[in-house]
Amino acid sequence: MLLMNFEVFVLGTSGMMPLPGRFLTSAMLRREGELFLFDCGEGTQVSLKQLNLKWKKINRIFISHMHADHVTGLPGILMLSAQVDRDEPLYIYGPKKLGEYIDSSRKILDMYINYEIIFKEVNEGIIIDEEGYTVEAVKLDHTKPCFGYVFKEKNRPGEFYPEKAIELGVAKGPKFGRLQKGFEVENENGDIIKPSQVMGEERRGRTFSYITDTMYIPSIAQKVKDSDLLLCEGMFEEGLEDTARDKKHMTVTQAATIAKDANVKTFGLLHYSPRYSDFELRALKEQARKIYPGTILTKDRMIFEIPNDDANVIVTKEKSYRPRYERIIIRS
Ligand SMILES: [Zn+2]
Ligand SMILES: [Zn+2]
Repeated sequence: MLLMNFEVFVLGTSGMMPLPGRFLTSAMLRREGELFLFDCGEGTQVSLKQLNLKWKKINRIFISHMHADHVTGLPGILMLSAQVDRDEPLYIYGPKKLGEYIDSSRKILDMYINYEIIFKEVNEGIIIDEEGYTVEAVKLDHTKPCFGYVFKEKNRPGEFYPEKAIELGVAKGPKFGRLQKGFEVENENGDIIKPSQVMGEERRGRTFSYITDTMYIPSIAQKVKDSDLLLCEGMFEEGLEDTARDKKHMTVTQAATIAKDANVKTFGLLHYSPRYSDFELRALKEQARKIYPGTILTKDRMIFEIPNDDANVIVTKEKSYRPRYERIIIRS
């Protein structure tokens, strides 16, 4: 069986408004050539461009909720996706109003779209059950209907050893395929050969969870349990629990508590309040690390690569983006 890549690109980490060097919260999962976009505020396209991702054939888009900082980049993505030929439809998932937003944007902006857009209103529970993976929507508690998403790969069969099958008297051909799919077959002598006799150990599927915007609900931990990567909002610093609850967001300590309770393998914060400078965010990271020691303060264009086996997640930081200005003084 082929090795499958599973990479998460952080496209933005800011909450409420985009800042120079900190775009709005968004992430892209790339799995074996398929692209899954989570949220899409202003500027998401710029990050995609900076990462040099060939993104115009996004397969599925998941929107958490209908706040401008999570959705206003969508019309641009839809329009630019029409620059390439595609036969596959684009599936878009989100709360009910997202459907209206897509329809009215298409109408008012008079968009040329050369592919099919299929909108699916999201309710809590499994929203996608494909051959290789499921996606579950997690109901969050925010000022508008809001969902987090858990992308879970199904376990994959272990490696197939054809030489073992031949040794056990199974003729090369369709029976090889059946064994690989988990079925027993008969060998030349009529004996039953089990897949476990010719296959390596089953390979664990990988899980990516994306949770933003919400107040602290302890039960989120159950939903994102054992994720290989959890990206979770941490809008405020420790001590501002009341503010966080009023605004229906979380402090970094609350987010870290979810990561710890869920026993996730890798935990990254995002959706920072614009009130914090990059320097100040380091203090928030330390607060979170008291609860979940490995907390990562995600930055725009950080890449998480989740290997096929149980090896550690590889984190790459793209060189940070520094806006440069040129001042031209015109003297009279
Ligand atoms: Zn937000
Ligand atoms: Zn919001």
